[in-house]
Amino acid sequence: EQPTTQGHGRVILADPRGFCAGVDRAIQTVQTILDADNPHQGLPPVYVRRQIVHNRHVVEDLAQRGAVFVDELDQIPDQAVRAGVPVVFSAHGIAPSVVKEAQRRGMRVVDASCPLVSKVHREVQRFVRDGYRIIYIGHRGHDEAVGVMGEAPDRVHLVEHEADIQALDFGPDTPLVMLTQTTLSLDETADLAAALRRRFPWIEEPPGSDICYATQNRQQAVKLVAGQADCMVVVGSANSSNSVRLVEVARQALDARFPGQGEQRAHRVDDAGELDPTWLQGMDSVGLTSGASVPENLVQGVLETLASRGFTQVARARAVDEHMHFVLPAALRSARASRK
Ligand code: SF4
Repeated sequence: EQPTTQGHGRVILADPRGFCAGVDRAIQTVQTILDADNPHQGLPPVYVRRQIVHNRHVVEDLAQRGAVFVDELDQIPDQAVRAGVPVVFSAHGIAPSVVKEAQRRGMRVVDASCPLVSKVHREVQRFVRDGYRIIYIGHRGHDEAVGVMGEAPDRVHLVEHEADIQALDFGPDTPLVMLTQTTLSLDETADLAAALRRRFPWIEEPPGSDICYATQNRQQAVKLVAGQADCMVVVGSANSSNSVRLVEVARQALDARFPGQGEQRAHRVDDAGELDPTWLQGMDSVGLTSGASVPENLVQGVLETLASRGFTQVARARAVDEHMHFVLPAALRSARASRK
């Protein structure tokens, strides 16, 4: 097959892209446990509840190193709990019922919930204490939304689409506040927030956005790149909320430049193997980015494949500098310190 651009094709790499501080911390949490000697003879070195981050490759790598992933705590045998095998909670946060169950069974928990997700949990707790009803903009069934709503299932009302707002019925004497999932599209959320304000003009909002810095920065970068490239490739898994949002943002930006073609010019891949050569036909430049849960080696793999198809020049488009870092969970830091 002939490369479409005879080696003159350009790749525009979005910056920032890839790992955020919360994902980095969550993966390092599991890796730190795996790096230590496994003191539990015949048992796994660590259990992880749910995918530690929503990326297939990350989960497969850690599983290969011995981490055992479970959907629910009841899949962890008592013998492992008694032996003190650590149980890691994923970056997406957990409902209090899960914490209680872990406590009841005496599990050794290492909570890798992202501090920015935990912040939203604390907001829910505070507003519930103050008598509010919470309108939570998020995606039904996503691990993060399930965890946040689990803080107060009777008091948190999920809004995913405008139709959900119409179904809500509160009078002005009910204090209302809107909170959001951390990985939403800024533009779509702004539309839903405006619709909520129209319907419930007294609704309050916390001082800062719940949409996290990493989501905001990656969306800003994808817009910048999609403003220059002929098409976009986003590396990320299908169940990664922020990765899927990046594809949507790219589609919108490309649709504005190539009316009616946004859909066919923005694509998501888990890795280079999913790149479809037909996407590149007739393109001079390809924008490339990755979601917050995506290791950089997957992006490098896509770069290599693009180079083999004639896209050999690589430029960068930086939207913003990013320097966020989170320390490891306290349970892990104290275990490390006591070994020293
Ligand atoms: Fe935390 Fe944002 Fe990363 Fe989610 S995307 S883990 S909220 S920093």
